[in-house]
Amino acid sequence: MGLMYRIREKLRVFMIGRNGVDRLSMHMLWFGIALLVIAMMVSSYVLNLISFAVYILAILRIVSKNTVRRSAENRFYVNKTVQIKKAVTHRRNRYKNRIQFKYFKCPGCKSWLRVPRKAGQVKVTCGKCGNKFSYIVK
Ligand SMILES: [Zn+2]
Repeated sequence: MGLMYRIREKLRVFMIGRNGVDRLSMHMLWFGIALLVIAMMVSSYVLNLISFAVYILAILRIVSKNTVRRSAENRFYVNKTVQIKKAVTHRRNRYKNRIQFKYFKCPGCKSWLRVPRKAGQVKVTCGKCGNKFSYIVK
């Protein structure tokens, strides 16, 4: 048995019943790296300390045995970031398709709608709330 195998086996046994790496702790590790790089660029002792604290917290989450609590935290984080990710993707798509489509919000429910740019006056039915109105594409 090689040394690497023994180390890996010891680590595997150590991690039994522990939280392990989830999305939140992975993002915390990346955030810690980013903070460390910024701390080195501006030579800030405080940022260095914060990045160290983030790292310690991430490692404590990974080796934590309170998996119920950790997975609830992770779920909360994933739910919050999914909304941000969706908003960013939507904004990017609106920008990417701005030549072909005119984007606007439904006056009834404020959800985003789009019509082809060269449509002129169109009758719009909102897919979400069913609100019907006419819209002039400029
Ligand atoms: Zn609507």
